[in-house]
Amino acid sequence: MRDLSNDTALLSLNTATVREQWSLEEIIDGCSRHDIGGIAPWRDQVAICGLDEAAERIKDVGLTVTGLCRGGMFPAADAEGRQVALDDNRRAIDEAVPLDAACLVLVVGGLPAGSKDIGDARSQVFDGLSELLEYARARRMPLAIEPLHPMYAADRACVNTLKQALDICDKLGDGIGVVADVYHIWWDPELAEQIERAGQNGRLLAYHVSDWLVPTNDFLLDRGMMGDGVIDLKSIRAMVETAGYRGFCEVEIFSGRNWWKRDPDEVLKTCIKRHQTEV
Ligand code: ZN
Repeated sequence: MRDLSNDTALLSLNTATVREQWSLEEIIDGCSRHDIGGIAPWRDQVAICGLDEAAERIKDVGLTVTGLCRGGMFPAADAEGRQVALDDNRRAIDEAVPLDAACLVLVVGGLPAGSKDIGDARSQVFDGLSELLEYARARRMPLAIEPLHPMYAADRACVNTLKQALDICDKLGDGIGVVADVYHIWWDPELAEQIERAGQNGRLLAYHVSDWLVPTNDFLLDRGMMGDGVIDLKSIRAMVETAGYRGFCEVEIFSGRNWWKRDPDEVLKTCIKRHQTEV
């Protein structure tokens, strides 16, 4: 396993982690100040900064863009809604290219309003991915399906395990892979074999870290800092590295009660320390 004990170069900051305190410009400067090697911006922050400006600032300080967050949200109640989603996903690819993002992260979407048919939602996801993939391939932008914990199946993502995501990838072919985010997949009894499978097929495109707090007080906004919860982070990193992953460890923490209320420089210092000791 790679030695991270003095590392900051393999750490990437998902900008959600300090989004309440800092603008994208301030986050880029903060990463640079703390010698963090990578960044994964969100599209709304990029839009506020301006796409060209964001790309230039990120390049100027030498940050690697480990992913653009996010596309997806494919299912809709009608054909018009599905088309709106697809158009937005194409724009997301057009934004990811000038940012030189390693991948476009996809949160695939859940049930359309009024629906109880998760099978239908999943087939809409497959169809949306299939159509988007042609556009992504032509622009050489890898698509990265992020399976989310099943508690989000209704409203955010009806793809909930690595197996499910990799089965989709196998049907669709090249240009698509997965994000392994420990928060979403740590509980999976098939974790080791599915990570190995992802690695063998060259589909492990990003690795996201945080921690699962006990108790969790808010299903969306109570993610823990690495080391504060119950996820066996070192074991999971061993799995992804054994599977051939040599990319960044991207810290992604949505924390309305805690980390979003703290001094962002302190948050970054804590991310670095925990990256070096807990990840
Ligand atoms: Zn993630």
